[in-house]
Amino acid sequence: MSERILVAVAWPYANGSAHIGHIAGTYLPADIFARYHRMKGNDVLMVSGSDAHGTPVTISAEERGVTPEDVFSQYQAEFLDDWKRLGITFDLFTTTHTDNHTRVAQDMFLRLHEKGYIYKDAMVQPFCLTDNRYLADRYVEGTCPHCKHGGARGDQCDNCGRTLDPKDLIDLVCKICGNPPEFRETEHFFLRLSVFEEQLLEWVRKQDHWRSNVRNFTIGFLEGGLHDRAITRDISWGVPVPLEGYEGKRLYVWFEAVVGYLSASIEWAESSGNADAWKDYWQGDCRAYYFMGKDNIPFHTIIWPAMLLGYEGLNLPYDVPANEYLNLEGFKLSTSRNWAVWVPDYLDRYDPDPLRYVLSANLPETSDSDFSWREYVRRNNDELVATFGNLVHRVLSMVNRNFDGKVPDPGELDDVSRELLDEAQARLDTVGTEIEAVRLRQGLSAGMGLAQAANRYLDQKAPWKAVKEDKADAARTLWVSLAVINCLKTALCPYLPFSSDKIHLMLGLEGSTQDAGWNWDRNQLAPGQPVEKPTPLFVKLDEELIEAEAQRISG
Ligand SMILES: [Zn+2]
Ligand SMILES: [Zn+2]
Repeated sequence: MSERILVAVAWPYANGSAHIGHIAGTYLPADIFARYHRMKGNDVLMVSGSDAHGTPVTISAEERGVTPEDVFSQYQAEFLDDWKRLGITFDLFTTTHTDNHTRVAQDMFLRLHEKGYIYKDAMVQPFCLTDNRYLADRYVEGTCPHCKHGGARGDQCDNCGRTLDPKDLIDLVCKICGNPPEFRETEHFFLRLSVFEEQLLEWVRKQDHWRSNVRNFTIGFLEGGLHDRAITRDISWGVPVPLEGYEGKRLYVWFEAVVGYLSASIEWAESSGNADAWKDYWQGDCRAYYFMGKDNIPFHTIIWPAMLLGYEGLNLPYDVPANEYLNLEGFKLSTSRNWAVWVPDYLDRYDPDPLRYVLSANLPETSDSDFSWREYVRRNNDELVATFGNLVHRVLSMVNRNFDGKVPDPGELDDVSRELLDEAQARLDTVGTEIEAVRLRQGLSAGMGLAQAANRYLDQKAPWKAVKEDKADAARTLWVSLAVINCLKTALCPYLPFSSDKIHLMLGLEGSTQDAGWNWDRNQLAPGQPVEKPTPLFVKLDEELIEAEAQRISG
């Protein structure tokens, strides 16, 4: 039976290029998950977009002397190109700077306001006398009162993940001029989060299928007490407050950006020709999975669910499989220190599947993990080239050389062949189970285990010898190997979509692996059917690039 799945992917700030940490933390896991469910025949909607508002974009624009529109348009175009080249398959990747998003975010505001969940109050805000302006969240920084980390922003500490208020910060300074701001009273709107505390705790405690780090963090956060939060700011860039007399204020980005999942679904529905289609994913029987890095957890397990509870009639998240961090060569990735592997730069020089593979094998699902170029080269050469690529290459070469490029006739199967075919089916099922539980590393490992088993089988059966002494046995071995490769291409397709499609064509099949679906018929390749001559799936990499890439990172 077909299931409905919403894959909601965290919105990147459109103020800089994507690096491998973003890919491993958010986009690749979401894509693997979505591809699998589509292959399975489930009804998937995968949406996200550029977060065009918020102070990261305006700060970046001010630094470069351009408009915020210039900044977000540039990165929106770049992200779309990244997704295409890396095979990240969004149904819609939009931006928050659309009329549709403004309308949906304002509707959320008005409904919550009408129901008493948003109220007006005076608050003190940092005001810089030098720059003569209020300083919204990221325009101030100081020391985190919880963990004493130095570079905490006005809205959140990146080190301990706590959300913050500027007045909590120690040694607060203006990020524009470096002077300490004064605090002035100004009127703002607040989200009455405190009323949802008990309801959210009860809900989160029941989510036994959540990752323990996500669930424990959320419970701890809620048990610490939920405070009302200001949702408007004195800035000019963003979604206007839809009430008369507040034209100078904008919705705070954390309030409007999370509405993006809903507004993007509505935009997708409108462009699909059925304007009501979004309701299937938000009001009907549908499981919503939210993919993100761990710094985004409270916005998706507390704030967004509170808004949804207040709004009423929209589905809460089913799962929030947030990832820990990916480090690079043992150190935390840093945009400001340029300690990163940038996605466009990588894709200009290397193929997409090896990156997808190495990151998938090393996803920071339960703890921080590390990317190193040494590991990249090792996994590429030992696992992709020597194990997987070589299996496909030698089997297809022997079929071409010894059986006129046609699928050989297996005759009667022996025990060892039957066992391998049974293992293939079992492993395909395991990969599916693991992906459904969002244990993507384990899914990949189960799939690659089949490539290893097939290589052992080939070494044991040695068809290159048998072809001279017992051609029927060589035919049997190669038929079984082709069938297993046909299974492998499906099992690994969510992870290695480009390579899977190449194998599909080399096996002489029409269409794509994705379209062929999540199933395997061991008898699909019938004797006599032609196969193609193999071309290499992966390129062996020179170890010298390890040093060259290390130089490139440290600049
Ligand atoms: Zn902190
Ligand atoms: Zn200042």
